[in-house]
Amino acid sequence: MSKKKEWGFNTKAIHLGRTVDKRFGSIFTPIFMEDAFLNPNKTEGVVVDPLSNEEYIYTRYGNPTITACEKTIAGLEGGQAALVFSSGMAAISATLYSLLKKGDHIISLRDLYGQTYSLLKNELPRFGVDVSFVSANNIESVPSLIKPNTKAIYVESITNPILRVVDVEYLGRIATQHSIKLIVDSTFATPYNQNPLKLGAHIVIHSATKYLNGYNDLMAGAVVSDRDTILGIRDQRIKTGGSIDPIGAYLLMRGIKTLGLRVERQNATATKLAAWLEENPYVKRVYYPGLKSHPDHHIAKRVLRGYGGVVSFEIQGGDDVANKFVDSLELGIKAPSLGGVQTLVTVPRETSHHPRTGVTEEELHTLGINPGLIRVAVGIEDLEDLIHDFDDAFKTTFR
Ligand SMILES: *Cc1c(COP(=O)(O)O)cnc(C)c1O
Repeated sequence: MSKKKEWGFNTKAIHLGRTVDKRFGSIFTPIFMEDAFLNPNKTEGVVVDPLSNEEYIYTRYGNPTITACEKTIAGLEGGQAALVFSSGMAAISATLYSLLKKGDHIISLRDLYGQTYSLLKNELPRFGVDVSFVSANNIESVPSLIKPNTKAIYVESITNPILRVVDVEYLGRIATQHSIKLIVDSTFATPYNQNPLKLGAHIVIHSATKYLNGYNDLMAGAVVSDRDTILGIRDQRIKTGGSIDPIGAYLLMRGIKTLGLRVERQNATATKLAAWLEENPYVKRVYYPGLKSHPDHHIAKRVLRGYGGVVSFEIQGGDDVANKFVDSLELGIKAPSLGGVQTLVTVPRETSHHPRTGVTEEELHTLGINPGLIRVAVGIEDLEDLIHDFDDAFKTTFR
C-alpha cells in the first residue's frame, strides 16, 4: 500500500480527533456529559487523557469529548497539543497567567481586541508584570523593546477593525532569537488562512466563538502550542476554571467540520465585496488585506493563504451616515461578533472603539479608526444578494 499522504484541511476538520464508541457503532464523538469518572477505573485498556497521561478524573481537568475537539484543533494548526476553553478570553487569560510572573515584561501590539488590551493594560500590572505597547505601524521597534525580563510578544495576526496584517514570520524570528515566546491571536485569520506556528510563532490563540464555531451560537476559545507549554496553560485552566462544557466542545467540533467550506466562501465573498466597495463613489476608503491599496498587502501575500472574511470601509460623511447606512441594510445585521454564517456589520467607533471603552480621539487617530468607518464580517449568503443589499442601503442613505 502506498504511504499515506497528509490529509487536506477539510478531511482533517472532519476526521481528526474523532473518537468512536465501537460498542454502539457511533460514527462521531459522543458527548460525555459526566462531571466525574469512575476512579480508579479498573477496566483494562481504558482510554487515558492524553494531556495528563492518566485516566479521566473530573471534567474541569479533562473529558473525552473535549479531548477530541482539542485534537482536531491541534491538527488544523499543526501544533503538538491544544486546549479548548469556555471563551476566547478564558484562553487568553490562562495563557498569560501561565507564562508571566511578577517582575516579567511583555511586549504587545496596541491594536488588540478591547478586553485583551484591558487585561494587559489594567490587570497584569496589578500582579507586577510590566507591559509595553507598540503600534502596528511600528513593529520594527520590537527588538529595541526586548529586555532581559521580557518573556513574550503578543499580537493579533489580523487586527480589528482596519485589518492590519502583522508579519508573524519576522516576529517569530525575533522571539526565537531572544528565547521568548510569540503569542498570536489568530481569530481573524483562522487555521484555513494561516498557521502561525508554521510561520515561527510559539502559541496560537483563537476566540473559537468566531470562525471556528461559525454559527454565532457558542462561546469558546482555544490555544495551540508545544506539549510542555500546553501542560503549563492546562494547569492554569484547572485553577482559573475556564474549561468548556462537553456540549460546548461537541458543538465546536460540529462547527469546525464546515470551517474550510465557510472560510473559502467568506474569502471569496469578501474579496469581491471589497473590490466592489472600492469602486463606490460614496466610499472614501476600503480596508481589506487582499486589496493592492492595503498598506500590508505585501505582508499579507506572504503570510496568509486567503485574506479573510472581514472588510472595513469609510463611508463619506462620518459616523451618523455610517449608522444610517448600517440601519438601512436588510441582510447585514447590526451586531458585534464575526465569523459566522450570517453577515454582521458594526460601526466600530460606536461599539468596540466607543469613547466609553476608554479610547481617546487621539488613540483612534493613531489606530487609523476614522469617522465613518464600518466593519463588515461577511457570512456565507450569496454574493449577489449582499451586493444588492449594500447597493440599496447606499441609495437609501444618500437619497
Ligand atoms: C472576540 C475576540 C476575542 C475574545 O473572545 P471571546 O470568545 O469573546 O471571549 C479575542 N480576540 C479576538 C481577536 C476576538 O475577535
